[in-house]
Amino acid sequence: MASLPLLDTLRREGRTVLTEVEAKAFLAPSGIPIVPTRLARTQREAVRQAKDLGWPVVLKIVSPDIVHKSDIGGVKTGLASAAAVARAYRDLMEAARTRAPHARIHGVAVQPMAPQGREVILGAGKDPQFGHYVMFGLGGVWVEALRDVAFRLVPLTPRDAHQMVREIRGFPLLEGHRGQPPVDLASLERALLALSAFLEKHPEVREVDLNPVFAYPQGCLAVDARVVLDGEALRIPPGGGA
Ligand code: ADP
Ligand code: MG
Repeated sequence: MASLPLLDTLRREGRTVLTEVEAKAFLAPSGIPIVPTRLARTQREAVRQAKDLGWPVVLKIVSPDIVHKSDIGGVKTGLASAAAVARAYRDLMEAARTRAPHARIHGVAVQPMAPQGREVILGAGKDPQFGHYVMFGLGGVWVEALRDVAFRLVPLTPRDAHQMVREIRGFPLLEGHRGQPPVDLASLERALLALSAFLEKHPEVREVDLNPVFAYPQGCLAVDARVVLDGEALRIPPGGGA
């Protein structure tokens, strides 16, 4: 089960959608590489955490009611000074006020700016009949327009993970393309297996969306995370969350 303080919060607030900060904390023990992420409730706190984490940083709005943060101007990347962080904090609060006036705002997420990698997506869902499954795809149009994704039921075997990363049509982009080096496919396979093990441990999880995960020539790193829990499993009344 998710940690008790988290479950208490979700029940009290009648929601099943975790914020990015909650989702990353919940997933951290799984072994999936995730960029360190902290919640800041004030501008000063955001600047202090940026200094702790090291420059440059990314700031994002944190709200259980804002699913696509960039759609409302809720993501500020490449912040390289205390002044830039302070301004980004104010801009995020202003964006939330004007573009999502009814959203519950927890604060902002502060995280190191990860070097650009090739963007992939790791996801998971729950089928009423077959249970949890894991999904792998490339970011952007590959998933949205082309539905170029691979699925396997949990528990994944190492062979499943090996096949998943190779069976998508966009695989040549991971293998190395126009002089780019290949990405670390083994690290993606390990992340898929770690996600599968996490789901086996957490029957209360309904949905996981790690979008994007940056794939590098060495290693990979999730920079965004969304988790939705099963309201029935938590006994959260229907309509809570979404
Ligand atoms: P959302 O999907 O809710 O709009 P994301 O957290 O995915 O917001 O951020 C939007 C984009 O910003 C990502 O697709 C990624 O390209 C970039 N980004 C987000 N977090 C980081 C980070 N820590 N380091 C580098 N780039 C990031
Ligand atoms: Mg995202």
